[in-house]
Amino acid sequence: MGFDTTRFPFLNFRDEAAFWRDIERLKKFFQNCREELQGVFKKGAELKAAFLELDPLVEELTNKICPYCGTVCCANRHGFPEFADIVSMLAMEEEIPKYDLGVDERDLCQFLSRSGCILPRYRRPYRCTWYFCDPMLVEVDIGPIKRYRNFLRLVTLLSQKRGELLEEFFKIYMEKARPNDPPGKSPHGP
Ligand code: SF4
Ligand code: SF4
Repeated sequence: MGFDTTRFPFLNFRDEAAFWRDIERLKKFFQNCREELQGVFKKGAELKAAFLELDPLVEELTNKICPYCGTVCCANRHGFPEFADIVSMLAMEEEIPKYDLGVDERDLCQFLSRSGCILPRYRRPYRCTWYFCDPMLVEVDIGPIKRYRNFLRLVTLLSQKRGELLEEFFKIYMEKARPNDPPGKSPHGP
C-alpha cells in the first residue's frame, strides 16, 4: 500500500542548483511523457480528492490542539519537499511552490502564517499531513468513535492513493528516464 520513497532520487534542498535542476527535469518528464502518464494523472486526481476529503478533519484537530502547542512542528526543513512530493504535485497538475532555500532550516516554516499553513494540503510535503503528534492522536482517541473511524479510513485511503500513484509512476520513470538503471539508483546520476 505505502511506497518506499527511498527508491527515488534524493532531492537535496541544501544544494539550490541541483534542487531546481531536478525539479525542472521532472517537469519536463511529465510534459514529454504525457501520453504514457495518463494513468498517473488519473491517480493524481484520486490523490487530490483523498487530500481534500481528509483536510477538514485534520483542520478540526489542528485548530483545537495547535494553538496550545509549545513546540510547533512546522520548521523549514519539514516544509521542503522530497522527490515523491514533487511527483505527486505534478501528477495532480498542481504548481510547485516557490521554495526559498536560503532560509534557516531550523526556523519556523516559510509557509507558516498566523492562521496556519498558507499552502493547500495537497501542495504541502506529504509528511506535513502524515505527521500526527501525540496530543493529536490522544484527541482522536478520546473523541467520538465516528470521528475515530473516519480518521482511520481517510488516512488509510490517502496512503493507498499515494502509494498507487508513486508505484505506477516509478515503473514508467525507470523504463523511460534511464532504461539501464536498476531500481533504486538515481536516474539523475551524472
Ligand atoms: S501538530 Fe502537534 S506538534 Fe505540530 S504544532 Fe500542532 S500540536 Fe504542535
Ligand atoms: S504544514 Fe505548511 S507550514 Fe507546516 S511544515 Fe508543512 S509546509 Fe510548512
